[in-house]
Amino acid sequence: MTTELVTGISELTTNDPERGGLLGRVKNAAVVIDGDTIAWVGPAADAPAADTRTDLGGRALLPGWVDSHTHLIFSGDRSEEFEYRMAGNAYQAGGIRTTVRATTEASDEQLRAGLAARRRTAQRNGTTWMEVKTGYGLDVAQETRLARLAAEVTSDVTFLGAHVVPPDTHADDYVALVVGDMLAAVLPYVAWIDVFCERGAFDPDQSRTVLEAGRAAGLGLRVHGNQLGEGDGVRLAVELGAASVDHCNHLGPRDIEALGSGGTVATLLPACDLSTREPFPPARALLDAGATIALASNGNPGTSNTTSMAFCVATAVLQMHLTIEEAIWAATAGGARALRRDGGDSPIGAIIPGHRADLHAIDAPSVSHFAYRPGMDLTYDVWARGRRSSTSPSP
Ligand SMILES: [Zn+2]
Repeated sequence: MTTELVTGISELTTNDPERGGLLGRVKNAAVVIDGDTIAWVGPAADAPAADTRTDLGGRALLPGWVDSHTHLIFSGDRSEEFEYRMAGNAYQAGGIRTTVRATTEASDEQLRAGLAARRRTAQRNGTTWMEVKTGYGLDVAQETRLARLAAEVTSDVTFLGAHVVPPDTHADDYVALVVGDMLAAVLPYVAWIDVFCERGAFDPDQSRTVLEAGRAAGLGLRVHGNQLGEGDGVRLAVELGAASVDHCNHLGPRDIEALGSGGTVATLLPACDLSTREPFPPARALLDAGATIALASNGNPGTSNTTSMAFCVATAVLQMHLTIEEAIWAATAGGARALRRDGGDSPIGAIIPGHRADLHAIDAPSVSHFAYRPGMDLTYDVWARGRRSSTSPSP
């Protein structure tokens, strides 16, 4: 296996708790990659020799973004609905059905190409791991097709058959289908089950039925909760031991307390909040209560048509009052925690020996530039699983 020494790192964000500060930052650092794994991390002066050498010329290096919430397998465009919403009309969960129609009409090849293009864009912008949800099929054949195609690009596929109730269908009948034939059909392709627990989507009892069926089938649990109002999504997620509850815009004191003391990550989706004009989640209160926060793109054609984690980080700092360190951590280690990939065989979200070599070099001396220069394209180079994308000329 070839080893690569990466040097010339002005500031290395390791997310290593043993290195001090939330981000475990090291100045004038070096990293050695061995195949697809990080082999050594430390001050450049102490770096061991390696087969090849890459000099970043005084740039910052951080873990690749871990985007733990996306809906990137879809077809169609909802810019008209977006424009209608930006003209002052409220977001309603039913817009999902527009994408279901377009997705159902698309061929496998079209869906595969669309997903690949979105993934390429994300990786060019530093995302090295991404979860992908189904949910634009809403029948057994279509949901299975989406799960199968998503499984071609990630092992974190989430079954979101319970995204919205299809037209002319009774909600309880649809839930029975989701937890019956649909779950059985998608099972070979998915690791997670998710439910949109919200007014206009699935009520708490229906959501519980979906999550318990997924758990019985061996899937991990995720929940879309408390996006449009103070519902039961967060409390249900914590009670059932979900890995993550996502959105969390409308939280009462009991929700904040539950997230502060439970093992469920609160995944915040700032690009979606801007795009739906929902109030931001109470991120500071969550952190003060001891909750773990992840930031994700929620990339989807209706309410958050972006895969830019840098945009999410900048928004979290500038609008949601996270510190630079909290936002960077939430978009890397927090995402890994939300997918339960911060441990195990090939952990992600940190630059620590033994972790997968997912790295993101930026054309700036420090990660503070993500918020200090918001909206700028900072990515200089990306390594996914030790393979450098070489978007930049070799120094
Ligand atoms: Zn979502």
